Amino acid sequence: MSTATRVGMLDRKWVTQCALSRICGVCSRPLGRPIAFVGTAEEVGRNAFHLPPLHLECTGSLLDDDHRVVTTAGFEFVRPAKEDLDQSPTFQPNSLL
Ligand SMILES: [Zn+2]
Repeated sequence: MSTATRVGMLDRKWVTQCALSRICGVCSRPLGRPIAFVGTAEEVGRNAFHLPPLHLECTGSLLDDDHRVVTTAGFEFVRPAKEDLDQSPTFQPNSLL
């Protein structure tokens, strides 16, 4: 999948809908377990992801040399505070598998 597609998945409304409805960012079907997140090394290091949650089987098209997958049983959806430099909501896996 291209960078443009990844950027499209970052649409704020879509990200929020995926978070609140617990649906997959790629196929929009309900999430089970594990829940997968795709992120850069920096996102993995911070445990804060920008792309919506995914089925593990839906991650393949988003992966490249700069992105890896983590799996979790659950996550927090964290909206930025006013003073945060990063004004995008993030997903923070809380039960890594
Ligand atoms: Zn899916």
